[in-house]
Amino acid sequence: MNTTEKFLRYISTDTTSSEDSGEHPSTSGQFELAKVLVMELLKMGIPREDLFFDEEHCYIYAKIRSNTMLKLPSIGFIAHMDTSPEASGKDVRAQFVFDYEGDDIELKAGNILSPDVFPELLLYKGKTLITSDGTTLLGADDKAGIAEIMAMADHLLENPDIEHGDICIAFTPDEEIGEGTEFFDVERFGADFAYTVDGGAIGEISYENFNAASASIDIKGCNVHPGEAKDKMVSAIRLAMQIDSCIPDSERPETTCDREGFFHLCNMSGDVSSASMKYIIRDHSMEKFEEKKQRLKAYCERIASEYSSCHIECDIKDTYFNMYEKIYPDNMHIVDRAISAMKALDIEPQVLPIRGGTDGAMLSFKGLPCPNICAGGHNFHGVYEYVCVESMDKIAELLVRIATSD
Ligand SMILES: [Zn+2]
Repeated sequence: MNTTEKFLRYISTDTTSSEDSGEHPSTSGQFELAKVLVMELLKMGIPREDLFFDEEHCYIYAKIRSNTMLKLPSIGFIAHMDTSPEASGKDVRAQFVFDYEGDDIELKAGNILSPDVFPELLLYKGKTLITSDGTTLLGADDKAGIAEIMAMADHLLENPDIEHGDICIAFTPDEEIGEGTEFFDVERFGADFAYTVDGGAIGEISYENFNAASASIDIKGCNVHPGEAKDKMVSAIRLAMQIDSCIPDSERPETTCDREGFFHLCNMSGDVSSASMKYIIRDHSMEKFEEKKQRLKAYCERIASEYSSCHIECDIKDTYFNMYEKIYPDNMHIVDRAISAMKALDIEPQVLPIRGGTDGAMLSFKGLPCPNICAGGHNFHGVYEYVCVESMDKIAELLVRIATSD
């Protein structure tokens, strides 16, 4: 199945989302891509009444109706239209590498995409890769996912003899700024379960992600002229440093992997009078997650108790939760379905815990169990992003298989 042409069309629109626009969607470029997709879905033969474009919030919902008397589940596929604000997504110029030999790839801007730094490249010897020209990201996250879902839809509509249940498709905005599911209408979408097609290398499937919280710590110290400070001054910035040094080195992002959680100090500012710190807290295990939140509070209380003239406040808010508890054990058939579809196509399944969150995690808690599967790209959010053409084509096939494997 051919996805390249679609992919190249989608990456030509700048859909970079923005953390600070305050609008929904956060940028207007996402509307432009949405309009292209709506036109294409109609052209493919999806009837108008089965297509809904939420023009206020920029969500597309489309349905390919069941064509069988069999009672099959309604299966959903979701991809996001925006690209990460961490790198430019404007004027993306695709660069092709045919029959890749495993050597350094020089991007037109002069930077080098090298297997010394990115050894996964070596998995693609003999394949066709698409990169950017080195000045922008590529947009495979997640326009590869969109292209694959569109190719699947194309294929099912062109081959009505392939039996399937209702296939629900959604394209969403603003995933990269954590707002992809804010206005997602699970009921309108109409799927019993779904997959976000937003992962990395072919074969990846994930149904575990972090539990996540953010902590805001406000510290008030006691400022006195340094010459007369003895036994009086309490420096807020020094308290901040003390709080941070309570956290064991083994619980930092840079020392953890797989299912190990962490505290991450992402921002700290202040002076003698006052200081503020921002942490994110992550853990796959709910128990350890709760313990970490309590522990950060306890660190703050302990430091505060050592000085009478200071005040420390620690405010912790949950951000998202691990979808695992919504999938395992009752909904494992969703994961099994994807795994057996992969095996049938000679794709080696790789079950990976996500060290982050996904829109699917949010949706799982809104009542739509939704693991994440591969889209075929690597090095997301930066100028070294690339995607393998053969992977994209094969993943489109995989989606057809998942949609029809009963
Ligand atoms: Zn993504």
